[in-house]
Amino acid sequence: MSEIKKYDVLIIGAGLAGLYTAANLPANLNALIVCKDVPWECNTFYAQGGIVTALDEEDVPFHIQDTINAGARHNKLKAVEVLSKESIEIREDFLKRGMPFDVDENGNLLYTKEAAHSTNRILHAGGDATGRYMHKFLMEQNYHKLQRNTLVYDLLIENGRCYGARAMVNYKPVTIQASSTVIASGGIGSLYKYNTNSRTVSADIHGICVEKGIALKDMEFMQFHPTVFVKTPFARKLLLTEALRGEGAHIVDEDGYRFLFEYDKRGELASRDIVSRAIFLYKRKTGKKVYLDFSMFDEKWFHKRFPNITKTFAKIGYNLPKDRVEISPAFHYANGGIECDLYGRIPGVKGLYVAGEAACTGVHGANRLASNSLLEGAVFAKRVATAILNDKNCLVGHPKFDKDYDTQLHEENDKAYKHKLREIMWKDVGIVRNKQGLLEAKNFIYDTKNKKIGRLLELRLNTAAAIVNAALNRKESLGSHYIEDETQNKGNE
Ligand SMILES: Cc1cc2nc3c(=O)[nH]c(=O)nc-3n(C[C@H](O)[C@H](O)[C@H](O)COP(=O)(O)OP(=O)(O)OC[C@H]3O[C@@H](n4cnc5c(N)ncnc54)[C@H](O)[C@@H]3O)c2cc1C
Repeated sequence: MSEIKKYDVLIIGAGLAGLYTAANLPANLNALIVCKDVPWECNTFYAQGGIVTALDEEDVPFHIQDTINAGARHNKLKAVEVLSKESIEIREDFLKRGMPFDVDENGNLLYTKEAAHSTNRILHAGGDATGRYMHKFLMEQNYHKLQRNTLVYDLLIENGRCYGARAMVNYKPVTIQASSTVIASGGIGSLYKYNTNSRTVSADIHGICVEKGIALKDMEFMQFHPTVFVKTPFARKLLLTEALRGEGAHIVDEDGYRFLFEYDKRGELASRDIVSRAIFLYKRKTGKKVYLDFSMFDEKWFHKRFPNITKTFAKIGYNLPKDRVEISPAFHYANGGIECDLYGRIPGVKGLYVAGEAACTGVHGANRLASNSLLEGAVFAKRVATAILNDKNCLVGHPKFDKDYDTQLHEENDKAYKHKLREIMWKDVGIVRNKQGLLEAKNFIYDTKNKKIGRLLELRLNTAAAIVNAALNRKESLGSHYIEDETQNKGNE
């Protein structure tokens, strides 16, 4: 029998969404934040470029428009309105709490621009270390209990009510009962061979949701970042922030040719899906290597504006901004996720909420506008906290949940299947898709699910299946979902 702990609120995830939900819950509430590994192993910590806020009331309609244009008009308009209107209040809240965003010599906030934004409206911190600064800031402010090395492997749900979760805490199974449970477990990066994400972001909780019949939405819209250095031995590949292109860096082939203009008149400033696809198709067509070129930047300015990137690349032998860096697109962000309402409530399951990259609030539509995700995490985390305080989630009794998976989390061959899955997701469910590849991926997933595998791999496969099925169901290209053989698909039906 596993040990039992009781809390008012359980928050699964210690990234921006989890920590900012907690920051908006009073100290007298008995809340527990858990994370799988050390708290800084999360996507929030690795975010570079910045966080969007509408500059003022007048900018709100323009921010909404930019978000919807990037999202291929697949966005939920109400959610985008909430995101943009409440962004100003979120900025003021962070400033009031003392968040050190970058300012000029007169103390004015510095705003930068990224692809597909019509104006400079992105706040940053530590130059290009926005996520790290925000994470450190929220960790320092946190007054709730935070428990690391706690891997959630099941949600306790019965008759439309969530009672908490089961987790492995330092390798021991624990039942964590909670009146309210918040999923803030991030995206799905580890499903792809090439990805920019933290190793902790592996779609476990999405997979539990699939198992429990909780809807995932817009899962075909996986975002690939165009400028990633993939030649490292680690699973997490090195991102070169969008802000570099916003500030004027060029994408060139090995001859220095800026080929992007053949694909979109905005060149480097087209949205991520367009730039990623253009690089993928140009490389396939010409066999040439593609680079990010910073040689136009003043060295001193570059080192001050992008200290993190300068340092990281110096460690692997690059002298920026003089050297150009070979790039490839890589998986970056899950536009889709666990379906929820505008307060992060998960329909049909009382006491269960979702915020951050794990959620599908509908703000991103078919493709996320750069730097909107930290903002989404903050805006909707605050709303989740509001909902928890308003909803009457008090637990009366606790059903007996007999099934436990504590001894079945891993099986011998899981690692090999996991790697194969990551290869297949990259090859067949990546930037450019076709029906045959998607069907092959589906077959692999279903075959593997029938083998002797551990629970954590099964959860990954559940999420991968949701992505593949969503991709098969959307027959036409839209936003970040690109089908190469649309006409053939239609003809085959
Ligand atoms: C390299 C990089 C750069 C980025 N740059 C920007 C940017 O400039 N601007 C922007 O807006 N967005 C950016 N993003 C996206 C943004 O950082 C993320 O979308 C956002 O930080 C997600 O926050 P989150 O709190 O939802 O999840 P995360 O910060 O990823 O946190 C997830 C948490 O869940 C925990 N967890 C996961 N599974 C379990 C489990 N089974 N049990 C227990 N705990 C679990 C993890 O341990 C972690 O604590 C970037 C992303 C990356 C990877």
